[in-house]
Amino acid sequence: LKNYVTGKASESDMEVVATEAVELKVPEGTKDAIVLKNLYLSCDPYMRGRMTKHDTPSYIPDFTPGEVIIGYGVSKVVDSTHQDFKVGELVWGMTGWEEYSLISNPQNFLKINHPEIPLSNYTGILGMPGFTAYVGFHEIAAPKKGEYVFVSAAAGAVGQLVGQFAKLMGCYVVGSAGSDEKVELLKNKFGFDDAFNYKKESDLNQALQRFFPEGIDIYFENVGGATLEAVLQNMRLHGRIAACGMISQYNLVEPEGIHNLFQIVAKRIRMEGFLVFDHFANYYKFEEMAVEYIREGKITYVEDIAEGLENAPSALIGLFEGRNVGKQVVVVSRE
Ligand code: NDP
Repeated sequence: LKNYVTGKASESDMEVVATEAVELKVPEGTKDAIVLKNLYLSCDPYMRGRMTKHDTPSYIPDFTPGEVIIGYGVSKVVDSTHQDFKVGELVWGMTGWEEYSLISNPQNFLKINHPEIPLSNYTGILGMPGFTAYVGFHEIAAPKKGEYVFVSAAAGAVGQLVGQFAKLMGCYVVGSAGSDEKVELLKNKFGFDDAFNYKKESDLNQALQRFFPEGIDIYFENVGGATLEAVLQNMRLHGRIAACGMISQYNLVEPEGIHNLFQIVAKRIRMEGFLVFDHFANYYKFEEMAVEYIREGKITYVEDIAEGLENAPSALIGLFEGRNVGKQVVVVSRE
């Protein structure tokens, strides 16, 4: 990261720097550390928040200008002085946006138990976004069969999976996305009952009335702003909103005010925010379930691959312009 960002982040806020060659070993005398070869990096919207300097601490620390960007990734252990990590093992967790990383507290890294599945999937369906979709939909929204579900940013990493989990539950699910290509994917690949391009709707309230004449039981909130305002007007009594993220706000210096909040009272809506970080104790159970879904062909999954570390800044910025179709991954190395 070159500098702290105010307002819209751009590629030029980051730079790719070559460093002198170093020995790929944990330094002599350093205990409980590992050296990772980074294979796949995950571009995630929350990373935008870390690029800004906060006056009051956020749920995750700000990045430091001049230092390497940190994010989820899939890596191979190439040296270790930690008893829980062996050379050659595959792991995923918070690593550096660099070819190799020295990690001095690796205890938060998770083991990859299914290397037979494409490893990049551990940045998405089998990684943080997949687990987010699962926790947010099943635990926070508490769905019942037959309920009406709306998902925003539906063709992205989290959204595509929420829609499929909802279908597996026997719900009726509609997604919104920002291009006709994404709408096609939602309807014809991910099995959403219906989908629309929110950029082509002049009145989101009317659009939701069209797709949900009886109202929405569950809204999986990924975008905030105008979409949330329209959803509030279309929720059913005792509806639930799983507040996962509000990407439309991340590049704003001042977040927008939200209208229609009184609907929460009038319709007895429960709106609950959650962070996937709080739930990792249950991750391995989710991994087994998701692997079964993949093997049985019950879930499909789309990735958008950027090749090479030098393309990582553009891939990250692309999330905020809707350039990614599916989960945005950066390939640093395939082995
Ligand atoms: P996506 O793969 O969905 O990528 C982001 C997408 O957001 C873009 O492709 C774009 O799609 C859409 N978008 C960008 N800007 C806007 C805007 N101004 N208005 C509406 N849509 C916009 O990202 P993820 O699936 O990784 O993340 C989805 C959400 O989940 C984010 O809000 C993220 O912060 C949140 N999240 C929360 C977690 C938690 O623990 N609570 C964990 C992981 C993610 P389009 O073309 O449709 O506009």
